[in-house]
Amino acid sequence: MAKGRVQLHGVMKSFGAVDVIKGVDLEIAPGELTVFVGPSGCGKSTLLRLVSGLELPTGGSIMIGDRDVTLVHPSERGIAMVFQSYALYPHMSVAENMGFGLKIAGLPKNLIKEKVARAAEILQLTPLLDRKPRALSGGQRQRVAIGRCIVREPEVFLFDEPLSNLDAALRGQMRVEIARLHAKLGATMIYVTHDQVEAMTLATRIVVLNAGRVEQIGAPIELYRHPANLFVAGFIGSPR
Ligand code: ADP
Ligand code: MG
Repeated sequence: MAKGRVQLHGVMKSFGAVDVIKGVDLEIAPGELTVFVGPSGCGKSTLLRLVSGLELPTGGSIMIGDRDVTLVHPSERGIAMVFQSYALYPHMSVAENMGFGLKIAGLPKNLIKEKVARAAEILQLTPLLDRKPRALSGGQRQRVAIGRCIVREPEVFLFDEPLSNLDAALRGQMRVEIARLHAKLGATMIYVTHDQVEAMTLATRIVVLNAGRVEQIGAPIELYRHPANLFVAGFIGSPR
């Protein structure tokens, strides 16, 4: 069963004459939390947007489960994405924000309520369901944004620097929550960050990107102990 598996083969992306992703091969097993890490501008967001189908590759193929993302309708790709700026609808309650996508998809009210209640429980948002976003802290808002994804039960969760707008203390707390969520849901997650600590603490496997290419792929401890080159060593490897 290929559910939750993500496969990239020879993926390339150019914007005009600028090559941003220069041939990426990657296999993500179902249930893995894979972190894309690398310096600003190396192509992390572009690679994530390619996986999501928001961008089309200029070469190679991207499969989620047994579906080619470039060939299926967005609603059938089985992905949900959490962004850095988690724009919530200010006039809607937490519950309405979380259920909005399902409402648009035409799900019956009682089913939406059930799914929202379950996601709220996982994210410890149950007491806040009737609040408006302005009455929430930054961390709570980000949890609502994650809740919007959970209710859709995606095969693959995509996170693009979801914590970079939060202060350091809250970032640490949310990191723990995301790890807990991953353990609880057992879903495939791809998480983009430029923060080494986030990568080292969250990842099942880390993909180190540099200028549109993969420098190394491995478990955090492998990269730390055996960095493939100076770039990886400088970024996450041991300082030895
Ligand atoms: P990261 O997320 O690692 O910071 P990005 O994937 O956002 O990097 O960007 C990688 C490179 O691709 C950057 O040089 C950026 O300017 C360029 N880029 C990204 N999107 C576009 C676009 N739509 N048009 C032209 N260039 C782009
Ligand atoms: Mg980015």
